[in-house]
Amino acid sequence: MRAERGRDMADAVIVGTGPNGLAAAVVMARAGLEVELRERADEIGGGLRTVPLFDDDVVHDICSAVHPMAAASPFFREFDLAARGVELLSPEISYAHPLDGGRSALAHRDLDAACEALGPDGPRWRRLMEPLLRHGDGVVDFLMAGQRSLPADPVAPLLLAGRILRHGTPLAARSFTGDRAPALLTGVAAHAVGRLPTPESAAVALLLGHLAHTSAGWPLPRGGSARIAEAMAADITAHGGVFRTGSPVTDLREVRGARAVLLDTAPKGFLAMARPLLPPRYARALERFRYGPAAAKVDFLVSEPIPWTDPEVGRAGTVHLGGTQAEMFRQETLTARGTVTPDPFVLLVDPAVADPGRARPGRRPVWAYAHVPNGSDVDPVALVRSRIERWAPGFGDTVLAERAIGPAEYEEYNPNYVGGDIGAGAVTLAQALLRPVPQVDPHRTPLRGVYLCSASTPPGPGVHGMSGYLAARSALRREFGIRDLPSLAPADSRAET
Ligand SMILES: Cc1cc2nc3c(=O)[nH]c(=O)nc-3n(C[C@H](O)[C@H](O)[C@H](O)COP(=O)(O)OP(=O)(O)OC[C@H]3O[C@@H](n4cnc5c(N)ncnc54)[C@H](O)[C@@H]3O)c2cc1C
Repeated sequence: MRAERGRDMADAVIVGTGPNGLAAAVVMARAGLEVELRERADEIGGGLRTVPLFDDDVVHDICSAVHPMAAASPFFREFDLAARGVELLSPEISYAHPLDGGRSALAHRDLDAACEALGPDGPRWRRLMEPLLRHGDGVVDFLMAGQRSLPADPVAPLLLAGRILRHGTPLAARSFTGDRAPALLTGVAAHAVGRLPTPESAAVALLLGHLAHTSAGWPLPRGGSARIAEAMAADITAHGGVFRTGSPVTDLREVRGARAVLLDTAPKGFLAMARPLLPPRYARALERFRYGPAAAKVDFLVSEPIPWTDPEVGRAGTVHLGGTQAEMFRQETLTARGTVTPDPFVLLVDPAVADPGRARPGRRPVWAYAHVPNGSDVDPVALVRSRIERWAPGFGDTVLAERAIGPAEYEEYNPNYVGGDIGAGAVTLAQALLRPVPQVDPHRTPLRGVYLCSASTPPGPGVHGMSGYLAARSALRREFGIRDLPSLAPADSRAET
């Protein structure tokens, strides 16, 4: 069904095909609108691209790799990746944190096993996580639905508030007796990529930390992250959506003929295409939007599994290389202030642990990035290698090939990663709640019919589809008077008539 408008353009144009652009398109297309997607790159997917880098038969995730949020978010719960053939494979240990002396902290998916491995801090870990797990949907929905409506489970925000006060302040250093539990929790807080400890990083730690103990844990899609984008694209195409790749939008006027334009772009990209059209006050607010520290990534092809000093680390899909809690507080705070440290926090993923089909005999992909200051020109290879070697001596001898992507190259690859900030905006307290500018509907812009739907809007970074979903909901209501959202379930045929 084409909505009444009398202009020769799709009802809705989505600019950018990252997970949020795709989620927005799924909702709009299923609502019966004609949808066109414009993507500057030659392939769709944004942060969901998987390609062979060194060998034809070993693929690497260029951006996202691990998907606790795609397993848990309200959008994906309804979209149902499993029913669409995307198999999310969950390692038994969601994430590991090696410590010196051949020891490590291990986030077993099974909470009992995790608590037992934490020794005297086990009961504290249980008191931290078990109530969140009991109110799991409430916690996820509250943190991912943009906090603009009353929570369906009022207990969830209360549970979060108490824990954020403890773990997002200097009290964090006194919350456990041993060094394993603080290292585990702080390694997850570091996913916020910014100063530590802070309330916003604690919220990230509680969200991702409790998901590590769910049945899905921190899963990886069989075959790579691109499988998620493909499943979303198939649904969009089945509902009449049209993709145009290699098709950057450089001037917003190119697409203003559509009744709704949803931009999967950072504020910087929006300003670049629309500056003369924007009210000066709003443009200035977008200019004040802050970008966070950057990622500097190295993709490795290695000949054998990583020789961790503690072999248990090799059972985890994700590994946090940051040392003790105190070390991480220092590294992350210095990085956020713009200092290049010799021992940055490194996030490493060994995809073949969960998905053995990613490896070939004698060849295996490894994905790792260091947190570095925004816009810095560090070469990450030596940095990342030395961090891995600290807990896996001999790793260097297994490297067959490596490719680095620094902050500037990330922005060139995808303009949403401004200065290499892969979160499309700093996760500060203000920007965690009110991104990109403080207003009731953060997705709406002062331009009629134009919405922002990228990770620069709530709920922020990650593959959850919720920024796209929330922006599409707003656009459907305002531009088309559609209040009842379409079903996103795979077998649903209501939108196809
Ligand atoms: C190295 C790295 C590791 C990550 N790891 C994880 C992880 O393991 N798990 C996780 O959940 N998240 C992870 N993330 C974050 C996650 O990928 C992003 O938060 C997510 O992709 C954001 O989705 P998005 O749709 O907002 O934007 P993006 O995925 O960035 O997509 C934006 C798209 O818009 C296109 N575009 C921009 N401007 C224009 C224009 N003017 N015209 C046309 N097209 C345009 C871009 O080319 C891009 O395809 C990672 C990111 C990176 C870079």
